[in-house]
Amino acid sequence: MTDRSVIVIGAGAAGLLAAHFAARSGAQVELVERTRDGGRKILISGGGRCNVLPGVARPERYVTASSAHRMRRLLKSWPLVEQREFFTRELGIDLVLEPETGKLFPSSHRARDVRDGLVEAVRRAGARMRFDTRVTGLGPPPSPDADWRVHLEGGATLSARCVVVATGGLSVPATGSDGAGLGWLEALGHEVHPLYPALTPLTGCADHADLAGVSLSVRIRAPGARPRFETTDGFLFTHRGYSGPSVLDASHLTVGGADTRQSLRVRWAAHETAEWDEMLVSARQGIVGGVVSDHVPARLARRLVHEAGVPWDRAVSRLTRAERRSLTRILGDYDLPWDGNEGYKKAEVTGGGVALDQVDLRTLESRVSPRLFLCGELLDAFGPIGGHNFFWAWATGRAAGRGAAQTA
Ligand SMILES: Cc1cc2nc3c(=O)[nH]c(=O)nc-3n(C[C@H](O)[C@H](O)[C@H](O)COP(=O)(O)OP(=O)(O)OC[C@H]3O[C@@H](n4cnc5c(N)ncnc54)[C@H](O)[C@@H]3O)c2cc1C
Repeated sequence: MTDRSVIVIGAGAAGLLAAHFAARSGAQVELVERTRDGGRKILISGGGRCNVLPGVARPERYVTASSAHRMRRLLKSWPLVEQREFFTRELGIDLVLEPETGKLFPSSHRARDVRDGLVEAVRRAGARMRFDTRVTGLGPPPSPDADWRVHLEGGATLSARCVVVATGGLSVPATGSDGAGLGWLEALGHEVHPLYPALTPLTGCADHADLAGVSLSVRIRAPGARPRFETTDGFLFTHRGYSGPSVLDASHLTVGGADTRQSLRVRWAAHETAEWDEMLVSARQGIVGGVVSDHVPARLARRLVHEAGVPWDRAVSRLTRAERRSLTRILGDYDLPWDGNEGYKKAEVTGGGVALDQVDLRTLESRVSPRLFLCGELLDAFGPIGGHNFFWAWATGRAAGRGAAQTA
């Protein structure tokens, strides 16, 4: 047995933080990562710019099937202001607020600087890093004083007093995470809440394919969702359906599939149905197409007016009450015809995961398997678009690393 030894499995956002904080707390740390350089999701995050953190923490917007109280306690464990300071102090990376989106990006706008800075900080803290090494399984200690064993592809075995599992979920498997860690944890007896792709584009109506590329700010509501769901953010028509932050944030509501259809209602412009009604009643001049395209992009306006069954060039003053009602509903409360989602291939995160009551909230030590620590996306919680998922990964990674070092 090696004194104070910690193995961290997975060099993603959570694992890098866990290794850093475990090493800084005096543990002898080995970080094992299957890809050749780690942090692959950091590299592709925020369109290559890495939205490191949100400008404002929004614990109420996270999703979990576990206790919301436990989730919030974890989020509060490392406040936003301290996380921001960490990047400046330890990595020399200043985070700047993008006013239009309220997101924090590195001042260089290069995700690579964040990934490289973290890897370097882990090295500086004294952790050993083993890249290109896939873990195939975990062997629990055969006796209370014995070490954990970590089995590697090729047959070698490492051992350590504590192990941190930071292997992520199932999203974008090309980045290295294939859900294997969740399988080991389930086999050890942890409760894993059903998994599903989240923050993923939706597929939809073939008739909308010719709108691909149209983007605008919208409000999406899901009247049938519990808890209530509403978001106002960007929306993008794609060749296969719908994307943009508002759609990604709503996508977890479609996991039951089109069979258990959750209605997503879109308000295309800034006006509610009643305001549209008033506008159309009071407009004395002009044609319907002109009024609508003053508020939504022209290609979309044409499509919406067509779907409302109203001629584009109908004089506003000659609209019938039924036509006006049909138009205002489509403009202010549109039932988005989604029929599925793009799945894990495009999902930014995995919904579900290890139930939060399976870990100690302070140390993130498993309550099922002593001296095993869990962090990051494999835990049952995710946040909306906007830096909230790194916020979760940094906070839980730090807590798990410190917890493991204290216990080792
Ligand atoms: C396209 C995209 C853009 C995103 N943009 C943002 C953003 O801008 N802001 C934000 O907050 N969030 C963003 N996210 C979400 C964010 O990237 C994740 O929430 C976060 O990376 C999860 O961190 P993690 O360490 O738990 O998991 P991961 O980042 O998935 O890391 C897991 C690591 O474990 C390794 N691993 C897995 N299995 C094994 C094994 N058997 N042996 C050894 N190693 C293994 C993997 O190779 C990987 O390096 C984005 C996600 C995607 C996909």
